[in-house]
Amino acid sequence: MASGGLAVLAVSPVIRSRPIGPSQREYANGAALVETPLDPPALLDVLQTIETQFGRKRQGQRWRARTLDLDIVLWSGGCWSDARLAIPHREFRKRTFVLGPANRIARHWRDPVTGLNLAHLEYRLKRRLDHPRRAP
Ligand code: ATP
Ligand code: MG
Ligand code: MG
Repeated sequence: MASGGLAVLAVSPVIRSRPIGPSQREYANGAALVETPLDPPALLDVLQTIETQFGRKRQGQRWRARTLDLDIVLWSGGCWSDARLAIPHREFRKRTFVLGPANRIARHWRDPVTGLNLAHLEYRLKRRLDHPRRAP
């Protein structure tokens, strides 16, 4: 399937989670593996256009209830960093709602910062959440 210059190669099952921050709603989380000739900033433009088409309004406050949040977690080019965009996503290693779905479709993808693959990152996060006082 192709849409907006993106070919969707794999889609995870949807996994529900409780929200972080002030929002009261439950979220439905998923991950997709997409192939595109776009560079990361252009891909972010496409993702933000899709968010707007789904009725998301950017009102300056992070984590408020929203219809759709499309983030770039990893890409095949390694790291990217500019004023608007950081890849890998800065928080993804701490988020079960990201690692859970992503692992269903890309468990061998490697985080260029830690050198660990997604399966290993999820295992490490679960162990930390189960044993919060244990040293890293
Ligand atoms: P979080 O970063 O905690 O997931 P969020 O996704 O709710 O928060 P948004 O309001 O969707 O935050 O995005 C805020 C800004 O984050 C975006 O305008 C974008 O410029 C920036 N951003 C930085 N890195 C990324 C990334 N990897 N994917 C998507 N947006 C990013
Ligand atoms: Mg986000
Ligand atoms: Mg976002």
